[in-house]
Amino acid sequence: MAKLKLVYEDNPLLRKISKPVEEITPRIHRLLDDMAETMRAENGCGLAAVQVGVLRRVVVIETEPGKLIELINPEIIAAEGIQTEYEGCLSLPGKYGITQRPMTVTVRALDRNGQAFELTGSELLAKAICHEIDHLDGKLYTDCAVRMLTPEEIEEMLE
Ligand code: ZN
Repeated sequence: MAKLKLVYEDNPLLRKISKPVEEITPRIHRLLDDMAETMRAENGCGLAAVQVGVLRRVVVIETEPGKLIELINPEIIAAEGIQTEYEGCLSLPGKYGITQRPMTVTVRALDRNGQAFELTGSELLAKAICHEIDHLDGKLYTDCAVRMLTPEEIEEMLE
């Protein structure tokens, strides 16, 4: 495994739409492994392939330590409720905003063996699923944020 370089806010790649994975090859497996390592090294709870410069619909999420979720070609098929929470992004270091996301979402995706599965998550996991799928469509949380936090609020939040 290898830690990959992150793509940051001013990079136009983050605004591109990622392409579906047509075939799950050893390259995709390596991408998944490297993305998981990169996410953990950066203390993130989610990462989309575009954030490491790969325009493919591949996402890793780990909102609970040790519970790695790999999503290939993910699609949200149901959403319910609403949560208003802090949100940040590894591609926008030092920034945080307040967003409104569904409280619970169900996602359909392929696993690394090409098997379709569905997963329902609430709270932080629902937020992470929405955030990462937005990346695949060239969107950032700042697009939908209710507002951004001030430096003072960030300091307080991180205490
Ligand atoms: Zn992000």
